[in-house]
Amino acid sequence: MNEERRTAGPASGGHFRILAGLAIGILLGLVAHAVQSSGDSGKELVTAVIGFTEPVGKLFLRMMQMVVLPLVFSALFLAVVDVGDLRRLGRIGLTTLFFTGILSLSAVMIGVTLVNFWQPGRALSAETREVLTVKYSEKAGESVNKANSAKSLGQTLVDLLPENPVQEMTGAVDGSSKGNGMLAVMFFALLAGIAATMQSEETAVLSGTMRGMYSISMTIIGWALKLAPLGAGCLVFGVTAQMGTDILLALSVFVMVVLGGLLIHLIVVYSVVLKMFAGMSPVTFFRKVSDAMFVAFSTSSSSATLSTSLKVAHDELKLAPETANFVLTVGATGNQNGTALFEGVVVLFLAQVFSVELSLSQQITVVLMSVLAGVGTAGVPGGSIPLIIVVLKSVGVPADGIAIVLGVDRVLDMSRTLVNVVGDLVVAACVDARMNKSAG
Ligand code: ASP
Repeated sequence: MNEERRTAGPASGGHFRILAGLAIGILLGLVAHAVQSSGDSGKELVTAVIGFTEPVGKLFLRMMQMVVLPLVFSALFLAVVDVGDLRRLGRIGLTTLFFTGILSLSAVMIGVTLVNFWQPGRALSAETREVLTVKYSEKAGESVNKANSAKSLGQTLVDLLPENPVQEMTGAVDGSSKGNGMLAVMFFALLAGIAATMQSEETAVLSGTMRGMYSISMTIIGWALKLAPLGAGCLVFGVTAQMGTDILLALSVFVMVVLGGLLIHLIVVYSVVLKMFAGMSPVTFFRKVSDAMFVAFSTSSSSATLSTSLKVAHDELKLAPETANFVLTVGATGNQNGTALFEGVVVLFLAQVFSVELSLSQQITVVLMSVLAGVGTAGVPGGSIPLIIVVLKSVGVPADGIAIVLGVDRVLDMSRTLVNVVGDLVVAACVDARMNKSAG
């Protein structure tokens, strides 16, 4: 009964419609960019069109963001309650950690190898570097300030437990959290779930309420997905209309290194891991998870995509709900392979730009810190930027240099978020297969 309710809701389907929405959005965005550059009247026209498309895109995004909090809490709570056995939960946790570790490490290694081979930093002219540094210096300054207020490791650990869970819940959504935001909410949900497992009779009503909350969130996501072709199209339209191609060309080698690395990780590494550990055909897998891929690409947010990931994991991949709930909820913040790859590439790229020679041990530091930064990055657009600044500083590369890449960040963010989200689903499929094997 519960099972049925939890997987019910409108079928996700419509992969093609979302893809078509994205393609049309990008195409019209490029046209709008050209019109905008043609003069004042063109600019006015495009501004008027964006005045219509932007709210539509935001509405789609809001529908997803609206359910993130109830979903994270109820999914994690239910995952613990449904697993029911703390030793089994520990096994799921350790298996998740294992796959997260090897996938993040391989992603960073791919990025670091490509950036050392192609040396995109050396291909950047001093003039372009100057222009970009000036243009994005204000934005870079904001990020550097944010990174400067980063907490010590000890405080970060203490903040895993929220002093005031309700405040952390609000803060996790609007960025005003005092502690660790979403991570603190997740810890609270995990502990609440563990406590509920120990007194299942007394907490049966609460568990039922959580199932209701989960089920409502999934139904709302079903509606949001129906809006996805238009919503996702409007979001990418805004990005392409405003950015255009000039800056992409100026940073083309860097952009190609990042996209090439992400593509290798997405297609080669994920396929091998899926085949080896989940015995699953990569083609079938990618077809089934395509809704989540498109939503991740258009929203640039793993958190906003969580609900869609949960939906495809249940409806399409048919993973055990408790495993999928646990792995995907934790993974939306804790497993970001695309981000880890990007962070490693940016740090080495900027070291090349500023001719900072990094020793082998410093490069190893970059790799390890990028893996950890991938774990600590919030699943929101541009979430990795403050952490990149921390890594830059730790190896003596000028942190203000982040300005050079900010102009292309959104496009790369869309792509790395797609890889992050697929990574979560790959880990979920592998953990599910492992758990089935050990149970069988
Ligand atoms: N936007 C990414 C995500 O939500 C995080 C980042 O790399 O900035 O997964």
